[in-house]
Amino acid sequence: MPKIALIAHDKKKKEMVQLIGNFRDRLEGQGLFATGNTGKLLIEEHNLAIKTMASGPLGGDQQIGSLVTSGEVNVVIFLRDPLTAQPHEPDITALMRVCDVHEIPLATNITSARIILDGVL
Ligand code: PGA
Repeated sequence: MPKIALIAHDKKKKEMVQLIGNFRDRLEGQGLFATGNTGKLLIEEHNLAIKTMASGPLGGDQQIGSLVTSGEVNVVIFLRDPLTAQPHEPDITALMRVCDVHEIPLATNITSARIILDGVL
């Protein structure tokens, strides 16, 4: 069963809301996790049951990384903004690293996100 983590940088949050709206029916009832602000927004917009972590800059990416390591998350959708410097860049790099260590599918943009969600849902 897919256990999916959802993370979007601020300039990508609108895209995330749209993406999750497109997959909403298939996502309902799956194990869903998100960083703080992304999760809050998705719950408000789509009324899905999502377990929220701290916000990204406060350690939420590290919490998701820990869930990947413990096997509680097995798909990561991380809509990154490559054009804006992020204060928590080391945490972002660490999260992507643990996905590769554990061979967990990781989408970092909307196109790969659609393909991965289509594949796992
Ligand atoms: P946020 O964190 O969902 O709390 O905004 C995302 C991030 O910046 O990693």
